[in-house]
Amino acid sequence: MNDRFNKLLQLNTSGLGCWASIILTVFILTSVGLGWIVNGFMILIALFLIVPVVAFWGFQWWLKRKLIQDRCPVCSYEFTGFKNTEFNCPNCGEALQVEAQSFSRMTPPGTIDVDAVEVSAQTIEESN
Ligand SMILES: [Zn+2]
Repeated sequence: MNDRFNKLLQLNTSGLGCWASIILTVFILTSVGLGWIVNGFMILIALFLIVPVVAFWGFQWWLKRKLIQDRCPVCSYEFTGFKNTEFNCPNCGEALQVEAQSFSRMTPPGTIDVDAVEVSAQTIEESN
């Protein structure tokens, strides 16, 4: 790549090489076709216009998949929460999680779940 560029520069320093490069450029332009270049620019402009719109719709679609709107099972306050996360009700502060497209109360403290075991294992590793 670099070698080729250097050779091109050397060609450009001599008059003949300069002409050769111009002819080569014109040949490439005509063989490829200026229409293709114009099309390329049009595609590029279209991409610049379409990409933000697609990204916006994609983001909305992603949000709709990720977000869930439901009522708090404790105080029936309606709000939006992220799926696969644990959160507190903004109205009554009850710890909630998403289960089967609706909010449900977290498992009461005292029940052994995998998360609790993982946390205790991590604290042991950190103390060593
Ligand atoms: Zn609530």
